Amino acid sequence: MGVRWRRVYEVCGGDWKKEGNAWIPGVYAYHISLACNHCEDPICMDACPNKAIVKKENGVVLIDYDRCMGCKYCEWTCPYGALQFDPEKRVMTKCTLCADYLEDGKAPSCVAACPMRVLHYGDLEDLEAKHGKYNEGFPLPKEKYTKPALVITPHRDAPKAQDILLQIANKEEVKK
Ligand code: SF4
Ligand code: SF4
Repeated sequence: MGVRWRRVYEVCGGDWKKEGNAWIPGVYAYHISLACNHCEDPICMDACPNKAIVKKENGVVLIDYDRCMGCKYCEWTCPYGALQFDPEKRVMTKCTLCADYLEDGKAPSCVAACPMRVLHYGDLEDLEAKHGKYNEGFPLPKEKYTKPALVITPHRDAPKAQDILLQIANKEEVKK
């Protein structure tokens, strides 16, 4: 599968419960589409010994391929699995938020391609005003670690499902 800057996690869990003669479903399943969150406090940037990761004025976090020496320190720190090592180019890579498209006033490719219009982009404050501030929940880490520039509208069952044993159903697809 190679380098995958965006991966879709399939989360599932729960069980059926018997009440009298009836079986009541208590199962949950939802998807989270995840790439680099261009964090406000990018832990990957702090980890890079060669200052190859920079956060631009517009908030986009980019890797300077001329400075990257492929040591993978950053990969170990990102709690979102966003960093993907390119074994052919021998450099670390990740979602650039299609920075070149943004400069031309165009939407990032993932936003343009999603047939269900699930993905949006823009100024974080505007997105939060429209969609709220939820950006945690399994399998995401606590927001405090990197302050991700991310807003999620959770599936109606996702907050309820946090109390039960959840697992990633497609580990092979989303592994680093
Ligand atoms: S999601 Fe990971 S790679 Fe992207 S800015 Fe945050 S810590 Fe860095
Ligand atoms: S792999 Fe590249 S970007 Fe990551 S820590 Fe090493 S030099 Fe920095």
